[in-house]
Amino acid sequence: MAMHRKIRRLLVVGAHGDDETLGAGGTIARLADEGVVVSLCVLTNDDGSRSATGSGVVNRTASIELAAKTLGVERVRVHEFGDNRLDTVGNLELNRVVEREVREFEPDTVFTTSMCDLSTDHALVSRAARVAGRPGKGSVRELRTFEIRSATDVGEASGLPVVFRPNCWERLDETHIERKVEALRAYGKELEPWPAPRSERGVRALAEYRGSQVSACLAEAFEIVRIVY
Ligand SMILES: [Zn+2]
Repeated sequence: MAMHRKIRRLLVVGAHGDDETLGAGGTIARLADEGVVVSLCVLTNDDGSRSATGSGVVNRTASIELAAKTLGVERVRVHEFGDNRLDTVGNLELNRVVEREVREFEPDTVFTTSMCDLSTDHALVSRAARVAGRPGKGSVRELRTFEIRSATDVGEASGLPVVFRPNCWERLDETHIERKVEALRAYGKELEPWPAPRSERGVRALAEYRGSQVSACLAEAFEIVRIVY
């Protein structure tokens, strides 16, 4: 058995409800089972960009809380910025919100979205999490990013200058993937029919692909930004 560095307090920082589940749902479920205290911080609370007119905007807080419960997350903080509008929030304000989360929860580890995603919200949140978890400031010893289907892979396919390069794999059991899919169901329409990337089979296909890269049946992949031992 390989040595596994102990994570005790994990803060997951996402732009949208579902980022945490798509990116790290299986790993969150596994770590929660292992006794890790997990806190989830989501910066936006609506699905404003889905609705062309801006009407019929749905508040996703209840879905986020249900998904978090399914994954074993103990603490949930949903902020009230608008979906796909994080670029209208000043850096200072975004950084302050994530810094406050770090100060209050004192995580040793932070998972967040990737700078490589086509979604501007994801890139901005990734940057804010890096600012909040920067070396020598606060409790964070490890910072890593996760991949999100139809955000990270689309970024790679859209000529962005940076690509997601996994250097960390978390092995998962069948039950962890089942909980990931169940948590996605909390978001209603988010789970689409195959062959959409965000279909049950699409989620499983990625877990199998990432697993097989390290001769495991199932895994989620991460890119470690920094670890301090
Ligand atoms: Zn997102």
